[in-house]
Amino acid sequence: MSAAVTTELKVIGHWIGGEPVTGESGRTGPVYNPATGEQTGEVQFASIEEIDRTVAAAKAASATWRTFSLSKRTELFFRIYQLMDEHREDLARLLTAEHGKVLSDALGEVQRGIEVIEYVCGIAELLKGEYSEQASTGIDVYSIRQPLGVVAGITPFNFPAMVPMWMWAPAIACGNAFVLKPSEKDPSASLLTAELLKEAGLPDGVFNVVQGDKVAVDALLQHPDIAAISFVGSTPIARYVYETGTKAGKRMQALGGAKNHMVVLPDADIAMAADAAVSAGYGSAGERCMAVSVVVAVGDAGDELVDAIKERLPKVKVGDGFDPSSEMGPLVTREHRDKVASYLDSGPAQGATLVADGRETAPDNGGFFLGVSLLDDVTPEMDAYRDEIFGPVLSVVRVPTYDAALELVNENPYGNGVALFTRDGGVARQFQFDVNVGMVGINVPIPVPVAYYSFGGWKSSLFGDRHIYGPEGIDFYTRTKAVTSRWPDPATSTVDLGFPQTR
Ligand code: NAD
Repeated sequence: MSAAVTTELKVIGHWIGGEPVTGESGRTGPVYNPATGEQTGEVQFASIEEIDRTVAAAKAASATWRTFSLSKRTELFFRIYQLMDEHREDLARLLTAEHGKVLSDALGEVQRGIEVIEYVCGIAELLKGEYSEQASTGIDVYSIRQPLGVVAGITPFNFPAMVPMWMWAPAIACGNAFVLKPSEKDPSASLLTAELLKEAGLPDGVFNVVQGDKVAVDALLQHPDIAAISFVGSTPIARYVYETGTKAGKRMQALGGAKNHMVVLPDADIAMAADAAVSAGYGSAGERCMAVSVVVAVGDAGDELVDAIKERLPKVKVGDGFDPSSEMGPLVTREHRDKVASYLDSGPAQGATLVADGRETAPDNGGFFLGVSLLDDVTPEMDAYRDEIFGPVLSVVRVPTYDAALELVNENPYGNGVALFTRDGGVARQFQFDVNVGMVGINVPIPVPVAYYSFGGWKSSLFGDRHIYGPEGIDFYTRTKAVTSRWPDPATSTVDLGFPQTR
């Protein structure tokens, strides 16, 4: 079924040098309301020339921006914080309109992004260097952190406001100019962000938005005036972006996809674990990189746990994200919805048990809906286990022991998030020691670290050596300079061709 097209399409362009700019490439992409299936907008894709113009504007702005004192930057970030806070509902409404997530979830996304802005309001503290007096006689050594210049961010569809905030807030606070290439599926939140940053008083050119597809991404990856790029998206593109960017001499961090396991031990509070599995498996229709995708039921936890999850599923209200009673919205596109639904065929064909079929419970109004779905008896060879489904399909893998559960998690190629449900503190402590995953939850299903820690997975969930936001974000967007200084005393000056000694 092809999507209906409304007569008045919203045209979504770029933001370059402090103002909205209409795209000139003539290439565009559709933006949908996923809850109705209607095309509501048309996003303009940047050409290479438009990318060049944007980077030139950012480069010009970065020269002045890096001279802004820390106290001026702090004051500005407090204003940015205030405006984002005042407009949180406006941002959230754009997310629900283009992504489809329910409004309460969109507000949660905005909140978690704003927390990163709150963190960088302390930029003066975060950029403090080190100082060693009298490192050698009459010589002091100190380190300073400096911005990189122009940096870029390329972001995924599933967090159109929060993930950009993870990047631009620390990047700009550190003194860089920023170019954002948001997902072409839900591009509007970035433009509202640009307006708010201008209103807060951020100088023109420090924050820019270029809409686009692979052409824009490739132009950013090759651009000689971009020093570093943060990417968040799927693993194949993350790997490509990381490899291409590093080859072009840039500092890169590329966060990829995930397959997050929730291990439930027999001693766990099963009701609590079932609540967590349903919340973290189906929240945002499973379109979260930290969504629980696999429940690993250990020993005799399986039957009781599957029954408890099954019992909760009919109560999950699926519908339009603007309806306050909806708990789960549609998927982002029809194509993605159909791909997710295909696991409800391939799973049983490969031996899984289909406990709940979301095709039967989805609203039937032309929107990209799929109801909550549950596959039991999934094994590691099945597509439903191997692929990042990124939708409301939860798989249950049954294993006999804790050791088998740990091995399953550690052998998985992804390593973003993992959760353990147990009442045994000793086992939990051993698990956090042994597990090869970047973010661990103990009786917490979506362990997204708070803003003053850093976010990032291991293995194929992150390419690069710096996690995003928090202290590692500050590291990523700065480079340190070590200064060795002596204020000359002419009386002690001599020629000495030996290597400088510190003693
Ligand atoms: P995606 O990889 O398709 O797109 C991400 C970005 O890359 C977009 O801006 C897109 O325009 C661009 N892009 C797409 N194809 C490209 C290509 N061939 N060449 C160059 N650029 C290209 O990801 P998505 O579907 O938007 O987002 C969902 C994925 O993101 C999931 O895999 C999810 O796990 C992952 N994700 C990861 C994290 C994390 O922190 N690890 C967070 C959110 C989302």
